[in-house]
Amino acid sequence: MQFNKTKIGILGGGQLGKMLCLSAANLHLEMHILDSAPCSAQNYCTQFIEGSFKNYEDVLVFGRSVDVITVEIEHVNIEALEVLEREGKKVYPSTHALKTIIDKGTQKEFYLKNNIPTVETLFFSGKKQLIKHYENNFSPFVWKSRREGYDGKGVIFVKTQNFDSLPDTPCIAETPVKIKKEISILLARNINGEIAFFPATEMIFEESANLLLFQTCPADISNYVELEAQYYAERIATELEIVGLLAVEFFLTDEDRLVVNEVAPRPHNSGHHTIEACDTSQFEQHLRAILNFPLGSTELRKPAALLNLLGAEGFSGEPIYKNYGLILKIDDAHLHLYGKQTTKPFRKMGHLTVLNDDVKKALEIVKKIHQQISCES
Ligand code: ADP
Repeated sequence: MQFNKTKIGILGGGQLGKMLCLSAANLHLEMHILDSAPCSAQNYCTQFIEGSFKNYEDVLVFGRSVDVITVEIEHVNIEALEVLEREGKKVYPSTHALKTIIDKGTQKEFYLKNNIPTVETLFFSGKKQLIKHYENNFSPFVWKSRREGYDGKGVIFVKTQNFDSLPDTPCIAETPVKIKKEISILLARNINGEIAFFPATEMIFEESANLLLFQTCPADISNYVELEAQYYAERIATELEIVGLLAVEFFLTDEDRLVVNEVAPRPHNSGHHTIEACDTSQFEQHLRAILNFPLGSTELRKPAALLNLLGAEGFSGEPIYKNYGLILKIDDAHLHLYGKQTTKPFRKMGHLTVLNDDVKKALEIVKKIHQQISCES
């Protein structure tokens, strides 16, 4: 095993890239980041290259300068990665996996083809086709842009026959699910095909922001449900030949049925607690997987609750962290700030993990602190 000899390139230098770099520092790995400046990872990598991970030339030149390429975001220039793959460069996740996942429509087609349970979905090439379908045949649906959120709008709940707010872009329409719980299964798969699962995380969304706000681990689900979720997650990872992390988000319906919502082939918000709560963090595990090292133990050392620290509504500009000092007084509380230069409503500015032998107590603590702090400008 050759340590420290491989140049790892990450497309994207946000908080996920930063936390990958922090983890890589323990193994003294050489980390190169491509992103625009300023960004969270800029001062924590071995080499920062200013550019755009969406730009063909930038990705090609960057990719040629490193040995292994990975991503912290799916929406990167895939054409350049395909050239790099053809040149023999290691790209994890592969462009095949990225292409399947990057578009919510092809993701759904993949689940249907592979008999993975997912939400009932219709596919439309644009707004006209969607209206044609729904004007005489209306029932509420969840509109989702096939590609990256359009004008910041990626998901819209459509409850009445008013389609004015819908962007005109290729989209899918899902049947609304009666969700009992949202859970995430995070796994890592290395080049040899070995897989390690982290314990399931339960995600609690903030309705007004449509964002993951709180999460707990272990999830309050039966062993059976967790094993079933692992079964589907493993099938997705194997079929897509994922190398690195794969996060699989599920809905547990009010009839106790598991359906896949979506997947991400990279470190994931639902795994941030693993930094302190598990034997191996998701970030180290990703690095182990893409370097084909043995995967680490994923055992949960202590139950955890996590709070995403979001920019407060009504504030945009240089962040002011109000009352954050309170966090530092809490036992076994671990604050992570991402160092973003500007705050915006609901922007992820950091996260807080609280460990406690009682997961309910940990959740109570983060809910209380959520009431007391605020990121303003
Ligand atoms: P994003 O890609 O922006 O994370 P998601 O597809 O995960 O968007 O949707 C965001 C949230 O909206 C989900 O976590 C869930 O709470 C809710 N949601 C999404 N799809 C459905 C659906 N078909 N039925 C009910 N709620 C949904």
